[in-house]
Amino acid sequence: MRYTGLIENYRDRLPVDENTKLISLGEGNTPLIRLENIPATLGKDVDIYIKYEGLNPTGSFKDRGMTMAVTKAVEAGSKAIICASTGNTSAAAAAYAARAGIKAFVLIPEGKIALGKLAQAMIHGAVIIQIKGNFDDGMRLVKEVADHAPVAIVNSINPYRLQGQKTAAFEIIEELGNAPDYHCLPVGNAGNISAHWMGYKEYFDDSKATNKPKMVGYQAAGAAPFVKGAMVDNPETIATAIRIGHPQSWGLAHKVQSESNGWFDSLTDTEILAAQKLLTEQEGIFCEPASATSLAGAMRDIQTGKIPEGSKVVCTLTGHGLKDPDTAISQCASEMININPVMSEVRDAILNNM
Ligand SMILES: *Cc1c(COP(=O)(O)O)cnc(C)c1O
Repeated sequence: MRYTGLIENYRDRLPVDENTKLISLGEGNTPLIRLENIPATLGKDVDIYIKYEGLNPTGSFKDRGMTMAVTKAVEAGSKAIICASTGNTSAAAAAYAARAGIKAFVLIPEGKIALGKLAQAMIHGAVIIQIKGNFDDGMRLVKEVADHAPVAIVNSINPYRLQGQKTAAFEIIEELGNAPDYHCLPVGNAGNISAHWMGYKEYFDDSKATNKPKMVGYQAAGAAPFVKGAMVDNPETIATAIRIGHPQSWGLAHKVQSESNGWFDSLTDTEILAAQKLLTEQEGIFCEPASATSLAGAMRDIQTGKIPEGSKVVCTLTGHGLKDPDTAISQCASEMININPVMSEVRDAILNNM
């Protein structure tokens, strides 16, 4: 049967009925890839699976939430949606608004959005409002303006977003036959980790799984309010998708941590970029910097034994590497070989680098 998106696939578990017009781009159903080389380099006997959310239609997991949020906005008669974004939410909002024939307004932090994401929001025809401020400023403004203009908020404070995003947990349980022991995610606003926990609990309660994972949230060291236990006013990290100091799902995420016996931790930008590069070089999987935070954290916790041998671990790779070409190239630029257009120089380049 033709796969036509996650709402159709999980219709009975989502707040839609037979009259709801679905706004879908075929999102969800992303690959769960078992890592073959990295576990050996760690010298530990663990199963690590990557949930490759970068293969959603606009290149991030935000599509799972956006298909629901835009479907419900259209059902309610909205002609326009609005979001604050570090990039991927605006890309998804722009695409799903185009699909629905409605308008998208996106507030982005000036100069702090990865090039691919900006290109997406622009080419889909969103109205882009750059603010002299960060994501947290944008979020505050979006909440305020929604009372003064006819726009539906499609940030993760919109409950339909989390409903859509919980389906990633369903897919993982269906593929593994049960929930993993640990599920590691990068955390910004903490909507996604909360949505996954909802999904795991729902399948557990309906006896579709006999276990629930410990949920582990990793942040960038310069933007780690959950690790600090307090909001951060000037978050900084190269992982722009999680450059958030005032998370919107603060309470939900703490509940996830205590209910699942999980934890929060942070990684430096250097550790994050090293994990991104390791994954591309050792496994052939390209994710954006923020996404690599999940693997960077999992690797550290496996190495220290906090995640014990014999565990089954799922790491969500939230967004595709092509979202942020600048960061990828700047990591590797010195490795390029420059030659004259003659065969002997090509040959030498090959023989010197075998
Ligand atoms: C949005 C996003 C995150 C953070 O997700 P939250 O639900 O805000 O915690 C992480 N990585 C990428 C690539 C994202 O786009």
